[in-house]
Amino acid sequence: MTNDLISPDLARQIEDFIHSRQADIEGFIRALVETESPSGDEPGSRAVVDLLAAAANELQCVSKVERVDVTGIGQHLVVHAFHSQRQNGNILLVGHTDTVHSRGSVGERPWRKENNRIYGPGIFDMKANCALAVEVLRAFDELKVVPRYGITLALTCDEEVGSLSGWPVLERIAQSESPRCAFVLEPPAAGGRVKTGRKGTGIFAIKCEGKAAHAGLDPEKGASAILELARQTERLHALNQSGSGITVNVGVVHGGTRSNVVAAEAEGEIDVRFRTEAEAKEIEKILSRLEPIDERVKVYVSGGINRPPLERNAAVIELFERARGVASLLGFELGEAQVGGASDGNFLAAMGIPVLDGLGISGDGAHAVHEHILADDIPRRGALLAGLLASM
Ligand SMILES: [Zn+2]
Repeated sequence: MTNDLISPDLARQIEDFIHSRQADIEGFIRALVETESPSGDEPGSRAVVDLLAAAANELQCVSKVERVDVTGIGQHLVVHAFHSQRQNGNILLVGHTDTVHSRGSVGERPWRKENNRIYGPGIFDMKANCALAVEVLRAFDELKVVPRYGITLALTCDEEVGSLSGWPVLERIAQSESPRCAFVLEPPAAGGRVKTGRKGTGIFAIKCEGKAAHAGLDPEKGASAILELARQTERLHALNQSGSGITVNVGVVHGGTRSNVVAAEAEGEIDVRFRTEAEAKEIEKILSRLEPIDERVKVYVSGGINRPPLERNAAVIELFERARGVASLLGFELGEAQVGGASDGNFLAAMGIPVLDGLGISGDGAHAVHEHILADDIPRRGALLAGLLASM
């Protein structure tokens, strides 16, 4: 990929423009952070959407602002921009307005700026990035940049609790618009690296049924379900050494009744991750064919795959190379990372849409008390996203 994606002048102009709005953007981010919106907080969700919808409605390039109500959950926001370009196709920008921080968190850990760091609950994951998406559209407006494709920005309100109502909204857009690609505004990996792969996930349960017996009088008549579960756990965790993208964790176990009884029952909860569809099939096969080690014990496995992988395929690499080209115009090196955690990007990727994830502002502490972004990364990341959109 070459550097003639967009003109170097335009890249710098966009960065300068966003930089000139640094104080306003920080104010916007602050307002979003101080409007608390933990997942499932309907009034909080609406209030955050009020702020974002008002900002989007100011923009010339925005033709439609759609608010999708979900009773008892909140509101999804869909912003349609560059309607005249939609005949060429669309690009989907994906983010979320909910946070994992319960109401009152902002009182305990208020918005504060310390040197280059801006702290606040939900700022890094990902309210600052919701603001950034709107600011990128504003930069296009002000600099009279018209990208080749229409842009649809979808901000859902229940991503942090599994996107039960948000995913159908994204799926509807993906089906009706068949976007050329999707850019996911989740936080980047350490060092600002974008995410070119996310593992898929599965949740399984294992149940062992043995035979109870008195541990002192006739232990040989018993078949310990706990021993079987322990051996199966060892067997499953050995898969982590296989060198593949598969990881398995028996994270919860229950079993037995009393210390002087050979346990008749034991069960475990299993988290499974994998890098590719082929690995998903492989681990499903392994789990469905798990044989007991003690033949007197019955072993049952239930559950299944719940999120497909975002595979680092050729289309993803192409988007990454494009982003890297834009970054180099802006004078920085953009890295990539493959991570274990899933996002809505996983589902979009499974629909065959090329996805580049982790395009948010650098920082640290997602879901934690030290959650923050780096102030000087706002214009850089804004210019990266804008440059990427303009280069398509
Ligand atoms: Zn997030």
